[in-house]
Amino acid sequence: MFDTLDSLVNRWGSLRLTMGRWASRGLAASLFPPRCCLCDFPGASLDLDLCEICRADFPWEREPITGAVVALRYAPPADELIRDLKYRGITPNARVLGVLLAQAVREHGAPMPRLLVPVPLHRARLRERGFNQATMLARYAGQMLRIPCAPRAMRRVRDTPSQTSLSMEERHRNVRGAFAIHGAAARRRLLAAGHVAVIDDVMTTGSTLAEMKCALLAAGVRQVDLWAVARVK
Ligand SMILES: [Zn+2]
Repeated sequence: MFDTLDSLVNRWGSLRLTMGRWASRGLAASLFPPRCCLCDFPGASLDLDLCEICRADFPWEREPITGAVVALRYAPPADELIRDLKYRGITPNARVLGVLLAQAVREHGAPMPRLLVPVPLHRARLRERGFNQATMLARYAGQMLRIPCAPRAMRRVRDTPSQTSLSMEERHRNVRGAFAIHGAAARRRLLAAGHVAVIDDVMTTGSTLAEMKCALLAAGVRQVDLWAVARVK
């Protein structure tokens, strides 16, 4: 009897939450309907700033990648959206890219992590840029997937030089030992989650994501997934 009553109360509670969420999303969508970030046509869905046509033309990553989930190929127009976000501070691009990452993860269908950990920028780089694009992407993807984000769980202990001109071997050497858990509270949170996903904007050789994974596994996190918005080939 009490079980039934409890479960009814729980179901009513979750139904109210769902209805509230839909109502607020519906209201937001009618006040600020999504527009395509490329051609300004109406968005293909409530959360997506891309129209059906641009969405169909996007450079989707169709090849499965061992040990990682990647939404797109680093090709036009995705590469430009990422560069504009990173180097020109066009932060609305983070929403469309984060939502596409969330969709790719859903399609992949693996069990979901319980916490998202963006690849951190070094303090000096963060000061210079003013924001961490990986954190913005993780927040939007997390909102879609209802997974919390822990942007300060890890820190970059070395300000590694830019990777763009380096060979694969140099990239691996460049990021070795570059990341650490950011204090005891972060460690407790990571261990309590047990299963986390590391988020980055672009994956090239995968050395940055692999190094993050190493640091998290060494700290005792049970499972670490690797997610990136786009892959350079
Ligand atoms: Zn469009």
